[in-house]
Amino acid sequence: MTRRLYQGVEGETDASEIEFKRSKTICGKSATCLADGDDTLGDTLHEECGVVAIHGHPDAARQAYLALYALQHRGQESAGIATADGQRLANIKGMGLVSEIFTEDVLAKLPGPMAIGHTRYSTTGDSALLNAQPIRVDSTKGLIAIAHNGNLVNLGNIRARLEREGAYFQTTSDSEIIVQLIAHSKANALVDAIADSLSNIEGAFSIVMMTRDRIFAARDPRGFRPLSMGRIRNADGPDTIVFASETCAFDLLRAEFERDVLPGELVMVTDDGVTSRQYASGQPQSSCVFEHVYFARPDSKIFGRWVQESRDQMGRQLARESGVAADVVVPVPDSGVTAALGYAEEAGIPFRMGLIRNHYVGRTFIEPEQRVRDFGVRLKLNPVRNLLEGKRVILIDDSIIRGTTSRKIVRMVRGAGAKEVHLRISCPPTISPCYYGVDTPSKRELIAAQKSVEEIRQFIEADSLAYLSLDGLLKSCKGEQSPAYCTACYTGEYPTAWVDVEDILPAAATL
Ligand code: SF4
Repeated sequence: MTRRLYQGVEGETDASEIEFKRSKTICGKSATCLADGDDTLGDTLHEECGVVAIHGHPDAARQAYLALYALQHRGQESAGIATADGQRLANIKGMGLVSEIFTEDVLAKLPGPMAIGHTRYSTTGDSALLNAQPIRVDSTKGLIAIAHNGNLVNLGNIRARLEREGAYFQTTSDSEIIVQLIAHSKANALVDAIADSLSNIEGAFSIVMMTRDRIFAARDPRGFRPLSMGRIRNADGPDTIVFASETCAFDLLRAEFERDVLPGELVMVTDDGVTSRQYASGQPQSSCVFEHVYFARPDSKIFGRWVQESRDQMGRQLARESGVAADVVVPVPDSGVTAALGYAEEAGIPFRMGLIRNHYVGRTFIEPEQRVRDFGVRLKLNPVRNLLEGKRVILIDDSIIRGTTSRKIVRMVRGAGAKEVHLRISCPPTISPCYYGVDTPSKRELIAAQKSVEEIRQFIEADSLAYLSLDGLLKSCKGEQSPAYCTACYTGEYPTAWVDVEDILPAAATL
């Protein structure tokens, strides 16, 4: 792979804003983007974004890098780190994976004890480098860098208003709207301007921000996306404060989980310590239940509950709701593994890794000369024939989106000699798009919005098909401190009542 400098230095500092672009060209002829075509990735929901922030560490950039590395599953398109040393605010971002962008040389250009970082799969705004984050804006309130996970839903109105008031947007990303709102706020103190601007936006946002000398972290009032706060205890000085989308990032930093940033809370960290305010309250919480189903890592604690525990319970509940006689339980790796373990244990049926996933499939590959049927899926998954041959197989997966990938996997398992293939899904049918930061196809493309369960079973060519019930899902994700969940993609009932579907995500494609 080649990498080249895409855009050079800008602004007042040495390494203030450097962007790298990963070359899409690989050795020769027919390179194809895996996410574009008839493949496994094209039929899954894409990750959202991951954010991190570090305050009070001599090598904050490296800490941010490690945390982003742990959050890579939340977005693989681009990544960035901004650092501040009290005087300067440097920002480096690029296309590709965290480990590809941030080499030793690159990290050396990011000095200072404070950092914020971002790893991204594009939602609103196109996926160009321009929209990679952190976004750095030189505003009337000074230099601000921002990294955002989620999706705003009153985007159009606010952007138009700000443009009428003279705002000039550098990107098409909704995250920049937040900074422009801060810049245009009438409040004098920065923290008041941030609180003011956050109370003007609707939708899903977990945000980290940085100025030359402080860090801010905030969640939207409904708490759609996760954001946790942790602490590294330093023997010879003040503690390092860290924020991350998922607690799995803390483990790599040896940080202790302290608490979640609360819905509607704005936390500020300076050299004087941590202060917090509730900038909004009273809205019912609606945290994304799909974080527990699919997005978050099983070793993370999200919304006060271990993801592993939720997925295990989803599998067990699925076995209770729709058990079927079989010889083996086989997960669709990786995300189906934990639910499959729960299912197998509850049903008393052996768990077997009957499908092996190739983890080294990149975004590009060279197609064979002649198109091979189901090539994309075969590239990524391979059946273990001796575990499947002559067996009645229960396949566990976490979603069916368009149905095309599920059909290929069912065919693959049957082709490896399975006598029967029963597909079990660890959540209810996905019938509605998400407008809160998850890249979902339009309703017309969601197979469960168009067909009954029996019609889907016929389409995917399984012997039987069953989904987890909504009650079963909510029961599985309920912990001692669990919040009220958003379930809009399973019910079509959106927590923000006035979502204008056509404005936010025009339904583009047809089945
Ligand atoms: S619509 Fe679905 S994916 Fe989107 S926030 Fe709600 S539960 Fe999560």
